[in-house]
Amino acid sequence: MIDIIKECEGAKRIGISGHIRPDGDAISSSLALRKYLLNAFPDATVDVILSNPIPTIFDDEAGYDEIKRDYSEDVSYDVYFALDCNRERLGDAGKYFDAAGKRINIDHHESNKEGVGDVNEVNPDISSTCELLYTLFDKKYMDADVARCLYTGMVTDTGVFQYSCTSPDTMRRAADLMEYGFDFPRLIQRSFYEKTYLQSQILGRCLMESVRFMDGKCVVSWIDRKTEDFYQVSSKDFEGIVSQLRNIRGVDVSIFMYEESNQTYKVSMRSSEKVNVAKIAEKFGGGGHARAAGCTMSGTVYDCVNNLSKHIEKQLEAASDDEGTNA
Ligand code: 5GP
Ligand code: MN
Repeated sequence: MIDIIKECEGAKRIGISGHIRPDGDAISSSLALRKYLLNAFPDATVDVILSNPIPTIFDDEAGYDEIKRDYSEDVSYDVYFALDCNRERLGDAGKYFDAAGKRINIDHHESNKEGVGDVNEVNPDISSTCELLYTLFDKKYMDADVARCLYTGMVTDTGVFQYSCTSPDTMRRAADLMEYGFDFPRLIQRSFYEKTYLQSQILGRCLMESVRFMDGKCVVSWIDRKTEDFYQVSSKDFEGIVSQLRNIRGVDVSIFMYEESNQTYKVSMRSSEKVNVAKIAEKFGGGGHARAAGCTMSGTVYDCVNNLSKHIEKQLEAASDDEGTNA
C-alpha cells in the first residue's frame, strides 16, 4: 500500500486529474484527495484539473468551484496524481502528468492492472477509486468534506451499494464515513437518482426505441447527432440509460451508444455475471470493469453492434457450456 503523505512530502505544487468525461468517482476522488492533501500540507498548492463536461450534480462537494478546466497554463508539478484512469484517458491533463517530478496512479480498473505512474496503487477488486483512497488515507487528515466526497464516489460506482463490486468491506467503510456526519439522503438523491426533465425524456425515448437481439439476452439503444442536436443534450445527459436497459428481465448485456462525431460512437456496456464486458471493450481499444465498460467505435450503428455481438455471443455460449457441465 502506498503512503500518500510520504510520497507528497516536500511537494510545493501537486496536481490531480481523473478521466475525461469525469463521472462521480473521478470527480469525487479528485476532490477528496485535494481536501485531504490540503489538510496535511496547508502550504502546498493542490490543483484539481478535469475536462468538461463536469456534471453539476456534484457541486455540493468541497472544492467543486475550484476545479480547473483549462489546460493552457504552462506549469510543472512536483507530484501529479492520475485517479480512476490510465494514461490515455487523462486526456489533455496527460502533459502535466508526463512532466511531473513524480507520477502517481491510483485506480481500480481491471484494464489498468499495471498502473502508469512511477508509483502505482491499482486494485480491481475494490468498488471505486474513492474506496481505495479511503484505505490509503490517514484518519488524522480526514474530515467531513473528505468523507462526503469518498461516500459519493462509492455510491455512484456501486449503484448505491447494489452492484457486485460492493463488498462487506465497502459497507464497513461506508459506515465509517457516515460517522463524519453529512446529509447522505440528499447526496444519494442528487448524485444518483435525480434527473432533469430533459434527461428523463431522453431516457424514455431510448427505452422506447431500444432493440432486443440474441433472444432478448442483449438490448441496444442509441442516439445519433441529429437527435442530440434536436434535444440539445450531450454525454452528461445519458448517465443511467445503459443501466436502466440492463434492468430489463432476461437481459445479460445492455449497450448504449451515442454519436460523438460523424459515425463515431461512444459505447457503454453493462452485463450480468455471464459476460465480462471489459474484455469486449478492450478488443476495441476501450476498457473498464467486468460488469461495466466502454469504448469508442467507428462505423454505422449496425456495424458496431455486429462487431460487439460476435464477442458477446462467444461469452454467452461459453457460459451456457459451463452451466451444462455443472448441471
Ligand atoms: P461508462 O459506460 O459509465 O461510461 O463507463 C463504464 C466503465 O468503463 C467506467 O469505469 C469507465 O471508466 C470505463 N470506460 C468507459 N469508456 C472507456 C474507454 O473508452 N476506455 C477505458 N479504458 N475505459 C472506459
Ligand atoms: Mn471508478
